[in-house]
Amino acid sequence: MSMSSPEQLRAFIRDVPDFPKPGIVFKDITPLLRSPAALNAAVEKLAAPFLDESITAVVAIESRGFIFGSCVARILKAGFVPIRKPGKLPWTTRRHEYILEYGSDVLEIHDDALNNDDRVVIIDDLLATGGTLAAAAAMVRGFGCTLVGVGAVIELAFLDGRSKLDPSTPIHTLVQY
Ligand code: AMP
Repeated sequence: MSMSSPEQLRAFIRDVPDFPKPGIVFKDITPLLRSPAALNAAVEKLAAPFLDESITAVVAIESRGFIFGSCVARILKAGFVPIRKPGKLPWTTRRHEYILEYGSDVLEIHDDALNNDDRVVIIDDLLATGGTLAAAAAMVRGFGCTLVGVGAVIELAFLDGRSKLDPSTPIHTLVQY
């Protein structure tokens, strides 16, 4: 089956109302992951803008970001760097705390994960308010390397998460709501 249009990928994203709490419509990507054609199309499309960009590292955010990020790293022949919730990474880490609508959150990355000559793409499953990707971008920039772009499968465009990211960073998303 060919998956050339966003509409074809959209058919594999399931809305789950009131998960994990009332009022949230959760975008469930497990049908997309289960389909060989949809999974292949999604990771090929995520990688496509960066094929000629000499990417050395794909950075992805726990945990659904890891699924897509590791596939994209393979396509780009780049390495893979995990960003995780606090206390999960075994080596010395850099912490980044960021403000959410209610409260704050913390992400960590190994302090030897990147160098200033790296060319980096950040991948996540979903861009909502943009807080998570903006935090990841700040962490990547903290290493002095080049952030070539950001990719996500799904964008909740009505939340305007793009406005949280630096306008000079290209953001590629596959399916918008
Ligand atoms: P944000 O920091 O608001 O852009 O949130 C992004 C992260 O939260 C993503 O990594 C998603 O995994 C998760 N997320 C936020 N909203 C949803 C949603 N409606 N459905 C599924 N995942 C979501």
